Order: sequence, then C-alpha cells, then structure tokens
Amino acid sequence: MSQPGSESPRMNFIGGEWVPSVSGETYRTVNPARPKEVVGEFQASLPQDAENAIIAAAKAAPEWGRMPAPQRGSLLYKSLAIFERRVDELARAITVEEGKPIADSTGEVKRAMNILEYAAGEGRRLFGYTTPSELPDTAAYTFRRPLGVVSIITPWNFPVAIPVWKIAPALICGNAIIFKPASATPLAATIIAEIFEEAGLPAGVFNLVTGPGGSIGNTLVEDPRVNGVSFTGSTEIGTRIYARGAEALKKIQAELGGKNAAIIMNDADLDKAVPGVVQGAFGSTGQRCTATSRAIVEKGVYGEFMDRLIEQTSALTVGDGINPDNDVAPLSSQSQFDTVREYIGVGTEEGAKLAFGGRALEGPEWEGGYYVEPTIFTDVPLDSRIAQEEIFGPVLTVFQADDVQDAVRISNSVQFGLSSSIYTRDLVQAHEYINTVETGMVHVNAPTLGGEVHLPFGGLKASGVGQREQGTEGFDFFTETITAYIDYSAGSRERSRFI
Ligand code: NAD
Ligand code: MN
Repeated sequence: MSQPGSESPRMNFIGGEWVPSVSGETYRTVNPARPKEVVGEFQASLPQDAENAIIAAAKAAPEWGRMPAPQRGSLLYKSLAIFERRVDELARAITVEEGKPIADSTGEVKRAMNILEYAAGEGRRLFGYTTPSELPDTAAYTFRRPLGVVSIITPWNFPVAIPVWKIAPALICGNAIIFKPASATPLAATIIAEIFEEAGLPAGVFNLVTGPGGSIGNTLVEDPRVNGVSFTGSTEIGTRIYARGAEALKKIQAELGGKNAAIIMNDADLDKAVPGVVQGAFGSTGQRCTATSRAIVEKGVYGEFMDRLIEQTSALTVGDGINPDNDVAPLSSQSQFDTVREYIGVGTEEGAKLAFGGRALEGPEWEGGYYVEPTIFTDVPLDSRIAQEEIFGPVLTVFQADDVQDAVRISNSVQFGLSSSIYTRDLVQAHEYINTVETGMVHVNAPTLGGEVHLPFGGLKASGVGQREQGTEGFDFFTETITAYIDYSAGSRERSRFI
C-alpha cells in the first residue's frame, strides 16, 4: 500500500508498506496557534502494531547489518538529497504541529541534515582499533557489530532533529529501527519515513509506528527482539524505560530533562550576555531541552542586567510561528499550556516576584492558541518548585550570587545537569565554572543552547543516562564492540594461564 494523499489518514510504515493500525483507530493533531485547525489524522497504534514493526525489523536486520557500511552511507547520502528538496515542507510541518517559529523550524531541519551528512560519512570510518598483543605472532583488534533491532522513542519539541540524530547513527551502524515519534508530532515523522522510503532503504530497515507511548511504548522496550532503546523525553518516562530495560539487560540510552542556568559575572559583556539569555530563555518558546531556565547574576551587575533583560524581553513579539516576524510562538499543546500557567501561579504563591509577563494571551485575536507571555521571576526561593523543576516554556527565573563559587553552587542545586553557561572575561572564573559545574555541556560567553553534530551531546544527573549522542561517541551506543585475537604463529605454543 502506498501513502495516501494528505487529506486521508496517514499510515504506519511497517516492512516497507504503508499500513493502518490493527485497531482501525486514528487520532487527529491540531495547530497550537489555532487549535480549531486540524493538522492531520494518524494511526492510533496498539501493541500489535509495534510487534508487527519489530517482526519486520528483526527480519531485515541481518542482511542490513551485513551490507558494507559505505553502501549504507550511500543510502543516507540519498536521503540527504531528498531532505534538501523537502526542507520548507518539513519546516512548515514542524511549525504547524509543534508551534515553534518558522526560522527555528528551518534551523532544526538543517541541523538534521548536518547529522545525516556526518553519519553517512561515518560509513567509511566506524573505526575499531588495533593494538600490539602480548603474544608474538598475534593480531589483536576490535571491530563494531550492530545491535540488531533498535527502538527510537522521541519527544515533540524537536520532531525532526532528535529523531534524525538517533536514526542516522542507528542506520549507518547497521541496525533496523522502529521509530515512535511523540504522539503530538506525527506529521514530521511521516515525512521522515517517506524520505527514507524514497532513498531506497530495504523493506523493514526503517519502520514508523505512531500513537501514544502509553499504549505501544512497553512493547517497544520489552520485546525480546529489541536489542536497544534510544529514548529522549521526560525524566519521569525515561526513568521507567531505563528500569525496564535494565531488567532485560538491554542497552538503553536516555536523554532527559533540563533546568539549565546561565551565570552572568560582574565583568560579563552584557552586550553578549543579555541577548544570550533572552534567546536561551524565550527562543523556541522555551521548549528546548537546552533552554535557559535560570539566570544567576553576580550582585554587582544585577541591576543593570535586569534593566536590559526586561527591555529586550519586552521587545519580543508573540504570535503564530508561521509568521516570520514573531519571536515567541504558542506552547505546543493544551497540556503544555496548562502546565506552564500552573507553574506561573505556583511561582507567585511560593513567594517569587513576577518581574515581567506572566499572562496567558486570550481573546479573539489569539484564536484559542496556547500563548503565554515571556515571563521573568526574580527573588526566587532556591527550594521552590519554579527554581527546581523543568517548566518547559517561556519562563525565566533569576537568582543573585556572591561570587563564581556561589553561582556554581546555585547552578548545581537542581537534580538536572544538561547544559549551562557563564559570561565572564576572566579565565580563572571561567575555568572554576568549567571544572565544577555539573552539566554535560558547558558554554563560555554563549547561551546554554546548541550543540554541533560532531561533538557529543548529553547530560549528567537526572538529565540522562547511557552513552552520549552525536560526536564520535554517538556511534558507540548503536554498536557492540567485539574484540578479536588472531594467532597466526606456525605450530603450537604455550598459552597464557590468566583469564
Ligand atoms: P515524554 O517523556 O512525555 O515523551 C517522550 C516519548 O516517550 C514520546 O514519544 C512518548 O509517546 C513516549 N512515551 C510515553 N510513555 C511511554 C512509555 N510508557 N513507554 C515508552 N515510551 C513512552 O516527553 P515529551 O513531553 O515528549 O518531551 C519533553 C521532554 O523531553 C522534556 O523533559 C525535555 O527536557 C526532554 N528533552 C530532552 C532532550 C535531551 O536531549 N536531553 C531533548 C529534547 C527534549
Ligand atoms: Mn510529555
């Protein structure tokens, strides 16, 4: 069956065919800028659909794993060319189903293409290493073998980049995959599946199953034919997946929540720091895992920093992300909208001072969209919920610090440890921060955002567990390392008595 036109329900993609869910049920997604507008209709899958995809992947995996990696790389280069053709369509899909400003969506698609290019090239590397053996006439080396079948479970906030930064390394390493996108963002996922189909991947190597994680997630984690799970999402769900995977001794990679802080020292260049914090806190409507959720400001510069922060925040325009003039777009769903409004209420009740924004934008001109003003809290008690929990919206909490040690102490006071930054001109302070802050990524004189595809991405503490994504480490999760000892000596010899 081929994929029907965009008016009909979109299908799952299993074993090289576009197929409906065994349930026959579908669900609809809406545009968060005007929830009366339906974006599309998608399969509400059941465990049986997930199992069918696992069966297809298990069937395809051995041959795919034996294909020389450079040949798999050629298929990824083909998919890259198709991405290039569909950039605008993908960016629009992200904005209408997730809400983020269109420029951010385009940037996200470009980032996904960088990853594809990087992973495709890795087909000609996928290095192991050789080392001298302790025995004469013996070769000792390592090589990589694919895991086999890998489940890829992703969140809604980067509906293209996060899937591709898992899918591309998984494929180049020779795994067959089942991709389960967030239930809120199946349109971008469907386009990704169409691209890999057109690139000519063998049937069953790439499978897409849409629907709620609660109904199909367990199968994708627990089925014994699944050898690894690469998950990005909330700490709550990731913790459960990690525990379930551990019971079956499965490889699990879990990239989780964040509560990222930018530190602004007295000597900071505020021309850099203030726009960096504004972009970090309110860009992509604060719905980035690396968003700046906290600013920690040294006391001597606090007044001036706050004045400039509020001035620049008040210049942001809020509106439908499809209009390129808007800086801040709607939250991506009713539930995000409810959560963020609840946190704003809790912040005030817990004694923080609302320094800017704080309102949901309602009225006919907002068309029921999930808009919340960029919001800034000061005087935030360190043990309060808005100081400690991931809000995942355009809400910034501001703290004052006595010196760099105090700033790092505040930065480290949360359970999360994804990303952070410091603005200072002082190398001693910068290194005190770099060496003691508890985050997987550190930035000096730059926002908490971002990451380049050839460098590892991931967090410490409750922000993640398992091997890093991207960079050369990004291929480690998707392969097993095999160690080979080849005795090429002529005749018999004494063996080691150890191990
Ligand atoms: P979520 O945990 O609610 O969902 C993530 C995925 O898990 C979705 O596809 C969902 O359907 C699926 N899922 C739900 N229940 C499941 C179950 N029982 N078994 C298996 N899968 C299940 O997260 P979200 O709301 O989609 O995304 C937002 C979160 O993602 C935030 O916490 C954010 O910080 C985090 N995030 C982290 C990174 C990172 O790299 N560290 C990047 C982006 C987003
Ligand atoms: Mn969620």
